[in-house]
Amino acid sequence: MKKRFYQPSLETMPLEQLRTLQLEKLKHQVLHMWNHVACYRAKMEAAGVTPDDIQTLEDISRLPFLSKSDLRDEYPYGFLAVPLSDCIRIQSTSGTTGKRVIAYYTKGDVNLWEDCCARAIVAAGGSNEDVVHVSYGYGLFTGGAGLNGGSQKLGSLTLPMSSGNTERQIQFMQDLSSTILCCTPSYAAYLGESMKSRGLGPDDNRLKAGIFGAEPWTEEMRQEIQSLLGIKAYDIYGLTELSGPGVAFECEEQKGMHINEDHFLAEIIDPDTGEVLPEGSIGELVLSSLDKEAFPLLRYRTRDICRLVRTECSCGRTFVKMARPMGRSDDMLIIRGVNVFPSQIETVLLKEGYPPNYMIEVDRVRNTDTLLIQVELPPEHFTDLLGDIQKREDHLIASMRDMLGITPKVQLVPPHTIPRSEGKAVRVIDHRKLT
Ligand code: ADP
Ligand code: ZN
Repeated sequence: MKKRFYQPSLETMPLEQLRTLQLEKLKHQVLHMWNHVACYRAKMEAAGVTPDDIQTLEDISRLPFLSKSDLRDEYPYGFLAVPLSDCIRIQSTSGTTGKRVIAYYTKGDVNLWEDCCARAIVAAGGSNEDVVHVSYGYGLFTGGAGLNGGSQKLGSLTLPMSSGNTERQIQFMQDLSSTILCCTPSYAAYLGESMKSRGLGPDDNRLKAGIFGAEPWTEEMRQEIQSLLGIKAYDIYGLTELSGPGVAFECEEQKGMHINEDHFLAEIIDPDTGEVLPEGSIGELVLSSLDKEAFPLLRYRTRDICRLVRTECSCGRTFVKMARPMGRSDDMLIIRGVNVFPSQIETVLLKEGYPPNYMIEVDRVRNTDTLLIQVELPPEHFTDLLGDIQKREDHLIASMRDMLGITPKVQLVPPHTIPRSEGKAVRVIDHRKLT
């Protein structure tokens, strides 16, 4: 049966009531960490705070931050807050920015996480009538397990495809009439492109929606995927440290992701000073779990740069929305003193009609930073004359200069020459970091 919400009374809870619930849970979560996570207790003691100091939600700003390096220092079990015998699962981060962090879950933690994913599937129009095709990687990565669990809870027919083997993905999608696709946006674009090259257009599949996340993507990429596959594409956000995908998810408005505020408390801080910024400001997202058992985290610095917006949403959910993250603070490239996010480059390329297949290479030559953007020519322009290709490159350089404020080198390369990714796309090579 079709539902508008997976857990209506929670997802549409009036703000006042939500705040009361959050405060009650926060007090418990702080006490839980104080009692069971020695390294966090030591941090609290050093900051001169005790659990009794948390009397309002704003008091959270008195608690110390946690960062990925704190978790790495305590690898593997320093943050374990329950006996290991109460844990039933381990997952790990993708290790995009260094050594992997592991997370552990009790039955209750898995339950909560799967509820969050089920909410995301319902928000994308899913029900027990749907065939949910999960092409996120299975294994230690949280993508596959999270959406798989959410889909089963909802009673949808779940296809645990995992990533890779594009041929089989397309065949199963068609033979089994998949209606909802879950994977990274870059893999969705690749699947769409592969279908197109087999002569399969948007009407040749039964897909109606996609739930895409685990990496930054742009509005232009959304349009590209929607038209390639003939679906509505929804964003989903999460990180292993807080459970996995489903910390936040998009509703039918497709304008930002509702954070599951009954389980996670969000703040935006200035990444340089740590100061909490007023709602609506752009800054680093900091998340606290409110009811995790095995691996609770308070004031975890995600390094994801975004904005929170609390306006009435036509879907009826009361949870605050986060704008799509522009990328991580450590994804930001500083080139000749100018801040450049790879997502800005993607926006220009897709707006100018290029496919989302590109590579960004940064280097330092004779003390000057260089930026090279390689992008594939759209197949229909592959046979263009050399002079025309040169003109296209010049035009792209000018558009990039307008967007970024610096002049890159642009190189158009033949179609299908840039490696595709099945999980998180790797689009930046910074040679300066390698030396
Ligand atoms: P790792 O930090 O090693 O990549 P995870 O697999 O847990 O580990 O990935 C979590 C990170 O993925 C987030 O902190 C964020 O940077 C990125 N991410 C997840 N979902 C999205 C999304 N919808 N948009 C942008 N970035 C996302
Ligand atoms: Zn909404």
